[in-house]
Amino acid sequence: MLMYDTVVVGAGISGCCAAFALKRKGQNVLLIDRSGMAATGGSGAAGAFVSPKIGKGGPLQALTNEAFSYAKAFYRGHFPDYFHPTGVIRIPKDAEDAKKFSLYEPYNEANYRWMDESQLRALGIKERHAGFLFEEAGVCDAPELCNTILKEVPFQQFAVEKLIYNNGSWTLLNAQRSAFNAKNIVLATGYESDLLDLRYMGIRGTWGSRGDYYSGLNLKVSMHKKISVSANIGGIIKLGATHVKSKHPCMVCDGKPLASLEEQADGMVDTSDFVLKETFCGMRAGSKDYFPLVGRVVDVPYMEAHHPNVFRGAKPPLKHLENLYILNGVGGRGFVFAPLMAEWLAALIVEGKEVDTRVDPDRLFLKWARKLTSNEQRSNE
Ligand SMILES: Cc1cc2nc3c(=O)[nH]c(=O)nc-3n(C[C@H](O)[C@H](O)[C@H](O)COP(=O)(O)OP(=O)(O)OC[C@H]3O[C@@H](n4cnc5c(N)ncnc54)[C@H](O)[C@@H]3O)c2cc1C
Repeated sequence: MLMYDTVVVGAGISGCCAAFALKRKGQNVLLIDRSGMAATGGSGAAGAFVSPKIGKGGPLQALTNEAFSYAKAFYRGHFPDYFHPTGVIRIPKDAEDAKKFSLYEPYNEANYRWMDESQLRALGIKERHAGFLFEEAGVCDAPELCNTILKEVPFQQFAVEKLIYNNGSWTLLNAQRSAFNAKNIVLATGYESDLLDLRYMGIRGTWGSRGDYYSGLNLKVSMHKKISVSANIGGIIKLGATHVKSKHPCMVCDGKPLASLEEQADGMVDTSDFVLKETFCGMRAGSKDYFPLVGRVVDVPYMEAHHPNVFRGAKPPLKHLENLYILNGVGGRGFVFAPLMAEWLAALIVEGKEVDTRVDPDRLFLKWARKLTSNEQRSNE
């Protein structure tokens, strides 16, 4: 059987970017997903806005904006047909929020300008508070983009049930006991993280909905307030997204999420001719500290067996699973983070270049182990 350099599990934006980066570094890669096409998980539901983060500086904003800079060049360079540089206006949520915008300004991603009420009105935006226009931000066509990557890397529909490591290589098995073999595995499975013990990463899902609407509204720019409203791209305006913390996907949607999106959008632009074309729902996966999870995976059963003192505050060296990597936890900004995180992961796998400590999942292990013990102690008391 063919031995791949790397099998990437999950063909959302994270797995697609990881497979793409590994292929460009010369690897023999296979991308697999339980679905027969890309972007059927969170990535298919995403509005796929690619914009910077605003705020008072801080490490997550700095990382997000570094990723944004990389992402906009990545999409323009490799997939210009599926990235629309419409610009994205950040609109204050309310009068209180508007006061904070001048405090945010020094920390803004470089290319922005203020838009006052009259400029917003001229663009068809009903808002009164001045906001920032990030001209280089934009919106991706998520499924088209991911499925174009599938044409560049070998892809197989395959639902992984089990991973087995033996003699320096991994075997991935499905329920029918079919198998693929690889030296390395990258897990990019989004909120589904039950193939290994990944509890320390605190991967959790947030359920969201988006609606695509037919409209003739001449809206040239995208915007984000509490929700996002896209520019009119080919007669379609996207509204997204709702946020519901959830462990499991919601299978029955009674339409309420879209009603709230429509109500909020109506306060931002003229929605009078909007006709619903399609509804999308999905889970996005975040980490415990909202930073992405990129790199090696700690061998939790080994640490439990050989270093039980780690659960009492000791700091032994961490043992990782051989040749096993993760790209996950990209949260509400998967399309912003994935290209740079994939590049960092590919540099680790192919060139042995350590990943940035801000995204290395190791950061979470010792804290998790200590907390686990104190929680256990508390529950025994
Ligand atoms: C409504 C909504 C709106 C959003 N809007 C934006 C936005 O505007 N901008 C932005 O940047 N982000 C947005 N996001 C977030 C973004 O969608 C996610 O961050 C991103 O899609 C995560 O991608 P992923 O590849 O990590 O996971 P996913 O897209 O969920 O992909 C995981 C894949 O793994 C596969 N898989 C899982 N387990 C297995 C297995 N055992 N075997 C085989 N395959 C498996 C699944 O089938 C799935 O295809 C939004 C999310 C939602 C839900």
